[in-house]
This record gives sequence, C-alpha cells and structure tokens, in this order.
Amino acid sequence: MLNIILFGPPGAGKGTQSEKIINKYNLTHIATGDLFRKHLGEGTELGKLAQKYMDEGNLVPDQVVIGMVDEKLKEGANSNGFIFDGFPRTVPQAQALETLLEEKGESINGMIALDVPEEELKKRIKERGKTSGRADDQDENKIENRIKVYLDETLPVANYFDQKDKFVKINGVGSIDEIFNNICDQVDRLK
Ligand code: ADP
Repeated sequence: MLNIILFGPPGAGKGTQSEKIINKYNLTHIATGDLFRKHLGEGTELGKLAQKYMDEGNLVPDQVVIGMVDEKLKEGANSNGFIFDGFPRTVPQAQALETLLEEKGESINGMIALDVPEEELKKRIKERGKTSGRADDQDENKIENRIKVYLDETLPVANYFDQKDKFVKINGVGSIDEIFNNICDQVDRLK
C-alpha cells in the first residue's frame, strides 16, 4: 500500500490535488472535511455533532474524527493505498492513524505539504466561498480562526513527521498542473 498525507493550511489546494493524485495512482481518498459535510447533508447524528465545530472553524474532537477514519480504512482495506486530506490535524490524530495502520501491517510512506502564504490562502477561501455554500468560507472571522487553529494545533503534525524523516514541502503557488507534477515527483519517490 502507498499511504500519503497531503498536508497544508485551509485553502492550500489539498482537495484539488487529491482528486488528481487518486486518479493517477488509483488510491482511495480520505478527506475528513468532505466526510463531515456528507454526514451533514444526510442529517446524521455525526453530522449534527460536527456542524457546530465546523461552522466556527474549530476542530471536531479527535475521538470523533478517528472513529470515522477507522471505518473508512476498513472499507478501503483492499485498496492500493490512501491519500489523507485534512487529516491528521492534531498530533493525537497522527498517532492514532499510525496505530490503526500498524494493526494492518501498514504505515505512512510520507507527508507532502503544500506551502502557500497566508494572504493567498485568505483570497482563495473567500473566492471559494462565493460558490461553495460553506458557512466557514464566507466569514472573515471564521477564516481567520481556521488559520489560527491550523497554526496552533495542526502545524505540530508537520514536525511530528519531519522528525521521522517523512516530511517534504513543496510550493503550493503556481498552476494546478505545475503543482501536481511536483507532487507526483514526490509520490514516485515514496513508492
Ligand atoms: P479546509 O481545509 O478548507 O479548512 P476541510 O474541508 O478540510 O476544510 O475541513 C472543514 C472543517 O471540518 C474543519 O474546519 C473542521 O471543523 C472539520 N474537520 C475536518 N477534518 C478534521 C480533522 N481531521 N479534525 C478535526 N476537525 C476536522
């Protein structure tokens, strides 16, 4: 299996690039934000629980996220591997992911981080807010809070994998194809 974490702040382009990567390498996409939005749309209990955190740009509690990912890992047990997008977002989530993979005799091959300056992120998120219908994309304070939560709670996950020599950063500004090619170079190195 090839298990890759696509990392980066909100608005870095993880979703766009993940779609291209899963098609090229035939991997299974686990995007926790998308999964929560699906639950929300279907009105499940999990969706209702997640909504109050998401709408404010705060993190959904670790145990809730980890349980949902565990289920997706089981569903994708026969897959070529996974692209994790928007997960892990805290160090405890990273540790839980490693444990879940270890139980299957698997591990994380590497983390690829998209580097995008803060001003560009805010611009992209506001632009996306015009069509995404996402409450968290349309309010300046919520966008600011998501970036703050990223810096405080999520950035330590990059150090966590860097210490294991499993971290690489690439430029997240440029054309979608340029960035995709740079990601593919890294994925090929990890295969
Ligand atoms: P973005 O990367 O644009 O902020 P996502 O779609 O990844 O958007 O996530 C949207 C929201 O879903 C987050 O702000 C958070 O509330 C919740 N969420 C998604 N993934 C996680 C996670 N791994 N841990 C905690 N909360 C999460």
